[in-house]
Amino acid sequence: MTSVVLTSGKTFPAASNVSILDAAIESGVSLPYSCKTGRCSACKCMVIEGETRALQEEKGLSDAEKEEGWILSCVRSALTNLHLNVEDLGVALPSVVTLPLRIDSIEKVALDVIRVILRVPPSSTFSFVPGQFIEIIAPGGIRRSYSLAKASASDKKIELHIRAVSGGAMSRYWFERAEVNDLLRLNGPLGTFFLRDIAGLDVVFLATGTGIAPVKAMLESIVNIDLALRPSSVSVFWGGRIENDLYLDMKSIFPDFNFIPVLSRAGLEWRGARGHVQQVLPSILPDLSCAAVYACGSDAMIRTAKATLIDSGLSSKRFYSDAFVSSGSI
Ligand SMILES: Cc1cc2nc3c(=O)[nH]c(=O)nc-3n(C[C@H](O)[C@H](O)[C@H](O)COP(=O)(O)OP(=O)(O)OC[C@H]3O[C@@H](n4cnc5c(N)ncnc54)[C@H](O)[C@@H]3O)c2cc1C
Repeated sequence: MTSVVLTSGKTFPAASNVSILDAAIESGVSLPYSCKTGRCSACKCMVIEGETRALQEEKGLSDAEKEEGWILSCVRSALTNLHLNVEDLGVALPSVVTLPLRIDSIEKVALDVIRVILRVPPSSTFSFVPGQFIEIIAPGGIRRSYSLAKASASDKKIELHIRAVSGGAMSRYWFERAEVNDLLRLNGPLGTFFLRDIAGLDVVFLATGTGIAPVKAMLESIVNIDLALRPSSVSVFWGGRIENDLYLDMKSIFPDFNFIPVLSRAGLEWRGARGHVQQVLPSILPDLSCAAVYACGSDAMIRTAKATLIDSGLSSKRFYSDAFVSSGSI
């Protein structure tokens, strides 16, 4: 057994056949992560000292990043004692559980998006932090990740927004076979995409497509925060191709915020912003010095948004994201 030391000096043991991330979770240390398959790079950190081994390909790193010593802690293990430049998030996240659940309703909300409500068992105490996601395990064992679109499951119901991916195995289930009362399983909650300390900050959400799901959950939770801890402003930039892609009535969720819908393939009649959310943001919010940005949706949006916004003055420590990379292994 080797030990891993973080920037703060916090240390935890790690075996060579277990990912550094899983070893951290086992010891109650919260490192940032999302997809857990080496694709999204939310768990990217730099090795200051020590040797590691890749358990799977690190698709979320460029060759240059690998050369510089970056690793993805979700698919790397420790071969020797390690020193990493990453910090414990310092929060105790709800335990990950596996539960049965049934489909309560399925509603088509856009041409290629459904809203699915699922019931957890009445005896369960399933809880999560708004912004987190779960894995759904469908008949046949297919397992895919979906963000939770409600602030809590206190009514024993969870909400998912699911976009059809052409030729996708789980999409075929959701859009062709799923029926009310189907029995599925949930594994979660997962991920570290949640609101940090936002008091007095300009909170900016960037979402593409169903990336609005965790944003909805976070917005619902802001409504319940004590006034003294609330952000100074909240803006939501939601991007789609056509108007039909923006399937939620955002103002009914949280009236007191700036909502900027952005379309990339709008018709002539569209009066709103055109292009991509990350391009439109700097023209509407030029001063990002007190901003915290929470971005969710396509990997392409998140990568360009991060680079563009940090160039425009956003602190790199206040850019948080969850990329909807492909989560399928079968
Ligand atoms: C942390 C996380 C949260 C997610 N939350 C949501 C959510 O709330 N709502 C939602 O609709 N989806 C979400 N996803 C994506 C989702 O988990 C599935 O990957 C997606 O629905 C496709 O599954 P599938 O089985 O239909 O397709 P697959 O059978 O897995 O893939 C079919 C083909 O499509 C490609 N593909 C798969 N997923 C994507 C994608 N997202 N974009 C582009 N190409 C893709 C694959 O590479 C493959 O070629 C999330 C993913 C992650 C990692």
